[in-house]
Amino acid sequence: YTGKTKTQLLTENLNNIFVKDFQSLPVVVKENVSVYDAIVTVFLEDVGTLFVVDENSCLVGVLSRKDLLRASIGKHELSSLPVNIIMTRMPNITVCQKEDLLIEVAKNLIEKQIDSVPVVKESEAGFEVIGRVTKTNITKAFVALADDDL
Ligand code: ADP
Repeated sequence: YTGKTKTQLLTENLNNIFVKDFQSLPVVVKENVSVYDAIVTVFLEDVGTLFVVDENSCLVGVLSRKDLLRASIGKHELSSLPVNIIMTRMPNITVCQKEDLLIEVAKNLIEKQIDSVPVVKESEAGFEVIGRVTKTNITKAFVALADDDL
C-alpha cells in the first residue's frame, strides 16, 4: 500500500483522464444551412449542440438548443434563415484539444455555463473539429472513476 489518502488517489486519477479518453464524435453543419435543417439534424443525430464549420471544415460557430429555440419563436421563415445569423461565432468559442485534461474542460463548462465544447486540431486553415466533450462525457468519466474502470 502506497500510504496515499483516498483523496490523493482521486486527484492522481483526475490528473490522468484526458479529453481523448472520453470524447465523442462531433456533429457539424455548414454555415449556409437553414435553422430548419439544423433543428432536423439535432433530432436525427440526437445531440444538443451542433458545431458550424466553413468549406474547409474549420470551426466558425456553435448552435445550442436554446439558440435554435430562440430563432424559432421569432417571426422568421426558418427554412430560409441561415444558421450563421444566429450562431455563437469565433473567436468567442471555448474549445479543447485531445491532449487536454478532462477536468480542465469540466471547469470551463461550469465557468462559461455551457453544455459542450468542440475538440479541435489547429491547422493553417483554422480549427478543424475532430470531436466533442459534453456534460454526458464528463458524467461517464465520473462513473468510470467510481467503477475503477480507467
Ligand atoms: P443552451 O443554450 O441550450 O442552454 P448551452 O448552455 O450549451 O446550451 O449554450 C448557452 C450559450 O452559449 C448558447 O448561446 C451557445 O451558442 C453558447 N455556447 C455553447 N457552447 C459554447 C462554446 N463551447 N463556446 C462558446 N459558446 C458556447
